[in-house]
Amino acid sequence: MNASVRPEATFSFELYPPRTPASATALYESLTHLVATDPQFISVTYGANGSSRDRSLEVLRHILNNTAVQPMAHLTCVGSSYAEASQLIREFLDAGITSFLALRGDPPKGAHEGDNFLGDLGSAAELVQLIHRVQVEREPFSFHDVPGFPGAKRLRSGEKVTIAVAAFPNGHPRSRSVEQDLDTLLAKEAAGANLAITQLFFYADQYLSFVEKARAAGVTMRILPGIMPVTTPRRLARILELTDEPTPVDLERSLAAADTEEQQAAVGIEHARSLAQELLDAGESGLHLYTFNQHEAPLAVLRGVGLLDQHTKQKEHA
Ligand code: FAD
Repeated sequence: MNASVRPEATFSFELYPPRTPASATALYESLTHLVATDPQFISVTYGANGSSRDRSLEVLRHILNNTAVQPMAHLTCVGSSYAEASQLIREFLDAGITSFLALRGDPPKGAHEGDNFLGDLGSAAELVQLIHRVQVEREPFSFHDVPGFPGAKRLRSGEKVTIAVAAFPNGHPRSRSVEQDLDTLLAKEAAGANLAITQLFFYADQYLSFVEKARAAGVTMRILPGIMPVTTPRRLARILELTDEPTPVDLERSLAAADTEEQQAAVGIEHARSLAQELLDAGESGLHLYTFNQHEAPLAVLRGVGLLDQHTKQKEHA
């Protein structure tokens, strides 16, 4: 059944910073379970306009200092001056973060087209460039051991950072056309992005046809599919409101028809599992799971497609 899963298939998770002491306790509990599966990285969201700056950094520092998993910091630039954005990037680099998801962020509620809500950086592509610039200014060179020559050091240009960006298989809600979305993604790669992570989507074809178009347009970086197990009708409604994604009618009906919370969770997990399986069967090399700061549903999806067992076996044989 899972024979077609690529041996190198990876998985990663997204968390958001907790707002209350109780949700922080729940998050760190879930984090322990997520970390135990040895994901490729764990990303932590960032409130546009810096609303979660300290809380995001706290979770990132926790991952960095207490686990072997790479933390990835989401950063947004909407409403920032160059100086503020540079200072923010420096602060995260100083904390030891070397992996970023560079985002423009959404305009504040009530802002209109033509309002000057963007700040100095008009797009995520400009933030990608700025992260590279700040990193190079901060550490133009680093010294590395020369194998076979004890004590000898080789000078190399500064540590490379991973800079991921967002991609939208069903189009960004404000985009005028598929071409505009593809041009935006190309611009982000040209600016120095080396990974794309997609907005959630509910059907494999939506992602696969987007990737085909992106490749045809010249995008070469890895495009990781973002998958969200949606386990209640209320959460589905909220997610659709926030993302403007087209309604997955079959999932919506099945969630509404389920009698208990357990049955609803099983419906949401099965939908995400089957989507993940289709992507892996189509040759995708990784999955990025939106967790809602919970571990049961995302881990059930990974277990369902055989990725957790496969990972454990690979580690045992390493
Ligand atoms: P850009 O790459 O600059 O633009 C994205 C798209 O918007 C393009 O298609 C572009 O053509 C179109 N566009 C932009 N401006 C206009 C305009 N004025 N008119 C018409 N079209 C326009 N948000 C947060 O605040 N914090 C997070 O942590 C966060 N994490 C995210 C993670 C992922 C994986 C994704 C997919 C999204 C995330 N977002 C987050 C949401 C994101 O900030 C918004 O979708 C934002 O509107 C666009 O950000 P971007 O980086 O894609 O912008």
